[in-house]
Amino acid sequence: MKLVCNVEVVNRLHANVNIRSSGKYLKSTLALGKEPKRDKDFFLIHFSSANKSGNKYRIKCIKQVFVKCLNEGKATIRFEEPPHDVCIKSEAIQLKCFLRLLKSCITGDADNSQLSNLSNISVTSVESAPIKMTIRDRSEFPIKGFPRTLEYLYLAGLKICNFRRDILLLSRLVLLDLSNNEIEKFPPEMGRMTSLSELYLSKNNLGLNVSVDWRWLLGPKITKTLKLLDISDNKIKYLPKAIWKLERLVTLKVNNNEISKMPATVGRIQTLRYLDISHNRLESLPCSLLQCRLEHIDISSNNFNFSTQIQLKENNLAAWQLYINSLTHLASKIVLKHKLFYAPNIIPFTLVEFLDNANMCICGNPVVSDEYYVIREFELKDYFRVVVFDNNRNSSIRFECFFCSSKCYIK
Ligand SMILES: [Zn+2]
Repeated sequence: MKLVCNVEVVNRLHANVNIRSSGKYLKSTLALGKEPKRDKDFFLIHFSSANKSGNKYRIKCIKQVFVKCLNEGKATIRFEEPPHDVCIKSEAIQLKCFLRLLKSCITGDADNSQLSNLSNISVTSVESAPIKMTIRDRSEFPIKGFPRTLEYLYLAGLKICNFRRDILLLSRLVLLDLSNNEIEKFPPEMGRMTSLSELYLSKNNLGLNVSVDWRWLLGPKITKTLKLLDISDNKIKYLPKAIWKLERLVTLKVNNNEISKMPATVGRIQTLRYLDISHNRLESLPCSLLQCRLEHIDISSNNFNFSTQIQLKENNLAAWQLYINSLTHLASKIVLKHKLFYAPNIIPFTLVEFLDNANMCICGNPVVSDEYYVIREFELKDYFRVVVFDNNRNSSIRFECFFCSSKCYIK
């Protein structure tokens, strides 16, 4: 038998050490049942929104049942072990029926027809509410769609061409593995997934189109939760400038692509610790990276040895171009430096974009112009703990350096 009611569980142990209970009644279901093969072993199970797998109490452990306010639809069941008081608020008649059955369980003359086996009564049994799913063959896709309870979903190597939109409904999804498929694009709605923390998209076709729509990666929710992004082996030619918006990103794998230039904004991701940019076409790196506290960077198999295309135009650059430029530039630097709030509803959208795309000086201060920079070499080993680079070269790498002031330029 089940009783739909509101329940507050008070732990008497907590009361002893003066930790007050929250005083909150949760919408719950109480069920009475018995262990499958043991006829006299009765249980009370408490399901709530906070505990969907249910809390099991042995009827034998009931110490007392308080029914003083039964006519108001209130009762409390006190258990010896665990030391819980289960306070129930429900419709009075139903509660009376429930307690009558409970009484017969205690006295041992319960009518079997009203009590189901424990295995049958769970509201949401473990089988119907899985949190992990691995699909190894396309025939294994669930007909009714993915269970909403999923937190880990593995769909690797299934030759999927189109992103399955029912994945967007999985609000609890923490890990999504779609590596080794044939996906070219993701819907922008993906950026609103609320819990996504690890995203494995290696070996797909994300960079196949000339212009990549990156909105799926830069949405309002995903930028707050994503910690690992693997977009290696995707024929990607460039990364979006707004990648710095991934404010929790720790691991970024963009190896085995066709990237010739990293966005200068990448160093603004303060949480970044592991960066794999090996097997690309990079000739230099943005100086903002030196501001990252990277623990591991793999830069092997790039074009750092070639310097043909990089022209040293340092001598032609005036201080004005490098770190003064225009009044907008000066004002923007102040806005960014002091982290003043800005949004498209306060200032023009073009200005928002301008501020969003800001680079970093070698000192870490914002620089808004990305037109003028100076190439300087830095020894990567001086900056990062583990650097993986090609055997036949030293670890000094050319950096595109931006400057916020003459002081930084002279240094
Ligand atoms: Zn500076």
